[in-house]
Amino acid sequence: YAPPRAMGEIELCSCCLTPYLTALACVALAALWLLRRAPAKVDAATAEYIERAADVPQECQAIIAALKEHGDDSDEEKKLDEAAAVLDSASRMRAVLRSGSLPLRALADDPGALLRASPHMGHSRDGALHTRFTVSYNLYAGSVVGLGTDEQREALYETQAAGELGCFAFTERGTGVLSGAAVETTATFDGTTGGFVIQTPADSAQKNWISQGCVAERAVILADLIDGEGVRRGPHLFWARIAAPAKGTMFKSGEGVEPVAGVTVGSVPRKTALRSLDNATLRFDGLRVEREALLARFATVDECGAYKSMLPPGCKRMEDVLLSRLLTGRVVLSEYTLGVAHNLLRRSWAYCGERELWRGSKPRGKKMREMSNVERTFADYGRALALHESFAASVREDVVKCIETEAFTQCTFEGCCVVKFLGTSYAVDTISVLRKLLGSQALFEESWLGASSFVANATCAAEGDNTIMQLKVVSDIVKGRAPLVPAKVSAAVLATPAGRRAALAYAYGLLRATLKGKAAIKDGQLLTDIAYARAHLMVLAAWRGPRGWIDSYERVCVRFPTPICF
Ligand SMILES: Cc1cc2nc3c(=O)[nH]c(=O)nc-3n(C[C@H](O)[C@H](O)[C@H](O)COP(=O)(O)OP(=O)(O)OC[C@H]3O[C@@H](n4cnc5c(N)ncnc54)[C@H](O)[C@@H]3O)c2cc1C
Repeated sequence: YAPPRAMGEIELCSCCLTPYLTALACVALAALWLLRRAPAKVDAATAEYIERAADVPQECQAIIAALKEHGDDSDEEKKLDEAAAVLDSASRMRAVLRSGSLPLRALADDPGALLRASPHMGHSRDGALHTRFTVSYNLYAGSVVGLGTDEQREALYETQAAGELGCFAFTERGTGVLSGAAVETTATFDGTTGGFVIQTPADSAQKNWISQGCVAERAVILADLIDGEGVRRGPHLFWARIAAPAKGTMFKSGEGVEPVAGVTVGSVPRKTALRSLDNATLRFDGLRVEREALLARFATVDECGAYKSMLPPGCKRMEDVLLSRLLTGRVVLSEYTLGVAHNLLRRSWAYCGERELWRGSKPRGKKMREMSNVERTFADYGRALALHESFAASVREDVVKCIETEAFTQCTFEGCCVVKFLGTSYAVDTISVLRKLLGSQALFEESWLGASSFVANATCAAEGDNTIMQLKVVSDIVKGRAPLVPAKVSAAVLATPAGRRAALAYAYGLLRATLKGKAAIKDGQLLTDIAYARAHLMVLAAWRGPRGWIDSYERVCVRFPTPICF
């Protein structure tokens, strides 16, 4: 039985539908073609960006020249005698200091000189020397300058001519990446001598990973200050001599140091990279230091052991002052690591321009860089690198201003955390992609993609572990220290697909966190997603270059490595 058809009803059979469906499919395909974003190509601007090393600013030329002159570009793998390599590397750092090319005094008088030098250090591959450099200037000397009195600063400046090395004894085995927020090492005021006694109370309190700790004569030591009344005042920094220069004691040959009484120096297990950098373990068994060892710009202890805090306005805890010490180091490490990635991208691009692929019967084979997959990788990673470098430069200039005016803003604090985890991890991703792309070439020493490039992994962990940086960004939002919408993010950012994607992911993450309540704080992946999405918004807000380059950033950063589901 077939029901009667209503007036005007059209009888549709599958063959009648075919033209409609075909037309619909054509319209959809045309729309997709019109809306498609062309794959990235290495055009003239991109090639110039990849190939050209930025000019070194006038104020940094002397220190960059000194690092080049005293640096060692030979392969890490060749340094079989590790002790000799460490001593050689340490003496290179002493030579850089002695050269006076960057006076320690500049940390107070011209903070921009150190910060602006960092993007240019990655052009040579002496990661050990570069780590010594940032530890010496940022962490060690930077702490004395930032937290020390004028007299302590002057005393520090006097050590430079002799090439004395210092280390930053902050991290402890137990507290690990949370060192600073917590500390087990103690510095107890001793009423009989009027000084402090520094003690490692348990194995977990042993200082760990201390760069240059095996060869340094002095250290800045993080310890819990116990005043004359036995009150624990929390983490403070002490500047102390830990060794006297003495030839041939610590290491079997060459220039070693002799630890002073109360200090035991060991070494972390053999590393896979950065072998000419010594990473020490330090134990203190009743190390006696004078009262003046306490870096006393913001807290003092008088002859009777009475404690007085003089925190800067707006700062409630000594921990915050201490952690602010790590800010410059974070920017330096990030820009340095991005510089390393840029240099490796440039070298690899040059190789791909020379490598002729199988020509078969043709007179000439294609150059490797002419393959679309290769070209696209360089275009995307080069352009995304440009966005990272421009963001890092904007944060760095903010930091320079803050140091000059002695007024740190939350926006700068956040920028330093973001630039640290974003820049260093992007460099690791870039290096890993280059290793994949270049195939067997990556195994050759001349590619520089071997052990020396692992410096990027080290910078992910050092001076504020990347995971902790991400958690800090989110916890500052939760605690109301940072605004919900990051500063400088405008409607223009949201006009880009990458901006919309990041904004949606950010809003979605915040919504999920709100619904989860307190449980959200234990959801590490959710917190990481929020931190990355917010970071992407900040990077896009800082970009002033070609808009098309944002597509590359979206492809290699916003969708990867933390895929965003919008
Ligand atoms: C080359 C190099 C040089 C260094 N130089 C110095 C120096 O000169 N002075 C100094 O004081 N320190 C230095 N460090 C130490 C560095 O700053 C880190 O503190 C150290 O690497 C922490 O290592 P760990 O194995 O104890 O980390 P762990 O505490 O064991 O953490 C390992 C990982 O666990 C995860 N994790 C840990 N805790 C948490 C948490 N609460 N929430 C979420 N995830 C978490 C993170 O992913 C982290 O990366 C250096 C490190 C390196 C690699």
